Amino acid sequence: MTKSFDLTDGSVVVVIGSGAGGGTLSNELAQNGIDVVCLEAGPRLAVGDFRNDEAYMFKKFTWLDPREGSGDLSKKFPAFLCKTVGGTTTHWTALSLRMREHEMRARSTYGEIEGAALTDWPLGYEELSHYYAMAEDKMGVAGTHDMPRLPANNHFMLMNAGAMQLGYPNAPTANLAINSISRDGRAPCQQLGFCKSGCLMQAKWSTLYTEIPKAESTGHFELRPESMVVNIEQGADGRVTSVIYEDSNGDLVRQKARAVAIAGNAIETARLMLNSKTKQCPDGLGNQNGLVGRYYMRHVFGRIAALMPGKVNMHRGIIQAGSLEHEAHHDPKRGFASGYHIEVAAMTPETLARNLLAHEGWGSRLTDVIEQYAYFAGAIICGEDLPRSSNRVTLHTDRKDRYGQPIAHVHYEYDDNGNAMHEHAMRTTENIYQALDAKKTYRFPASSATHNLGTARMALQEADGVCDPHGQVFGVPNLYVSDGSVFPTAMTANPTLTIVALAMRQAVHLKQQMSGRVL
Ligand SMILES: Cc1cc2nc3c(=O)[nH]c(=O)nc-3n(C[C@H](O)[C@H](O)[C@H](O)COP(=O)(O)OP(=O)(O)OC[C@H]3O[C@@H](n4cnc5c(N)ncnc54)[C@H](O)[C@@H]3O)c2cc1C
Ligand code: SF4
Repeated sequence: MTKSFDLTDGSVVVVIGSGAGGGTLSNELAQNGIDVVCLEAGPRLAVGDFRNDEAYMFKKFTWLDPREGSGDLSKKFPAFLCKTVGGTTTHWTALSLRMREHEMRARSTYGEIEGAALTDWPLGYEELSHYYAMAEDKMGVAGTHDMPRLPANNHFMLMNAGAMQLGYPNAPTANLAINSISRDGRAPCQQLGFCKSGCLMQAKWSTLYTEIPKAESTGHFELRPESMVVNIEQGADGRVTSVIYEDSNGDLVRQKARAVAIAGNAIETARLMLNSKTKQCPDGLGNQNGLVGRYYMRHVFGRIAALMPGKVNMHRGIIQAGSLEHEAHHDPKRGFASGYHIEVAAMTPETLARNLLAHEGWGSRLTDVIEQYAYFAGAIICGEDLPRSSNRVTLHTDRKDRYGQPIAHVHYEYDDNGNAMHEHAMRTTENIYQALDAKKTYRFPASSATHNLGTARMALQEADGVCDPHGQVFGVPNLYVSDGSVFPTAMTANPTLTIVALAMRQAVHLKQQMSGRVL
């Protein structure tokens, strides 16, 4: 049942973005009878538009509007996220891990670290665990509840065997939001290995074919694709009244709103808040303390490839079948706070070749190595980085995008803690492959972030953050943030399960606020 709401209908909740945060929130609200208009900058693809071809789908999915990076980020492509209905859940690799309890108390656990704005999360682990369980059930996370684990492919078995040679215990395949059995009207995984190209089987959870159509079936939801929000308007009483977006014809349109929830993925969320300058908030919505865009985190990240003596065939099966969590704990004796995961991560021949170029140079040495693609293994490291005020999203002073809006400038540099963790993690990963007689290992840079967090951090009080513990923006009673921007610290795990859990929690809160006529 496709619903259409009037532009002057000020009773609707406007959700900006249809990915992990926005798609989930939209469906949760619509299931509870709350009218939602979801504005998504990207187009709506059908599963039939997917092709098992990463390079082809990259062009279809990816946010290619300009951004600028500095520090340890790529200048031209500082972050990798998608501009399409379903957001980056069309492209993600579905590792769905919970935050550890001690990570929620980062300040209390790690103590004071120079330059790091560490803080404890302003909510309890028990409460979050309740929503983790609901999120795992929604997403069908294999390895949790009644969902059987997915089988290991050769690529993960190899990594696990290397780790065991070093004395680490046997590790199961990861918790993945990929069907191991038919579930939720979707097929089980066929181990095709094209998870980043959209999943033709729909075995991998993506809001494109789960939350969005479910929301539509309620009659309380309208999706407007190719609708790029450029401004959020605020009334004299401090409440936001409407959003302005550019539609597919290039026309500027105003949609009235009862409440607005931004889920544009942390860089775009901060940019939109900073670009929405109003009489009451001349430096951008929620930016009265200059905190919007600050404390940007992207995880301590690195990529390793190893040339093994036997065939690995890393392209076969789920791209990120397993994650080793043996170094995820906090042990300051290693020379850094917090910990990291080592995650198996298959690369296409094209990605491998592009990265090897820097090591082998152009010519026969490079082609000789590429010919051995079947013998390569790949991994990424993903560790907790610490929030720093200087790592931040700001508006570019003179460059604008095609919508006439200042583009985002993203500055990010590792600190001493991050550098020490990075070195430890890369060395451990190399040791794992060398324990199985790797002929050679290669370190590749990871200068485009895939996890974007922290730019509108939540806090108990306004002086310390942009949002309250429910994601409500301080000083703007009906404006919410519904993505990883609200994370006050980054945790070790990949973020999406936590984003979904928080969106589900926020939906409960919004419903209560609306029933109580607070909103
Ligand atoms: C290669 C890759 C692999 C990944 N694998 C994993 C993994 O294994 N596990 C994990 O936990 N995470 C993974 N991630 C990260 C994961 O995809 C993100 O954490 C998650 O999708 C973020 O959800 P979100 O709702 O914040 O943003 P998104 O899912 O990116 O959705 C944001 C949406 O908002 C839209 N938007 C932005 N600005 C506007 C605007 N102004 N107006 C209208 N629409 C707007 C965008 O077009 C986009 O569709 C991966 C990411 C990448 C790139
Ligand atoms: S390996 Fe599984 S999740 Fe990945 S694309 Fe194939 S069917 Fe989908």
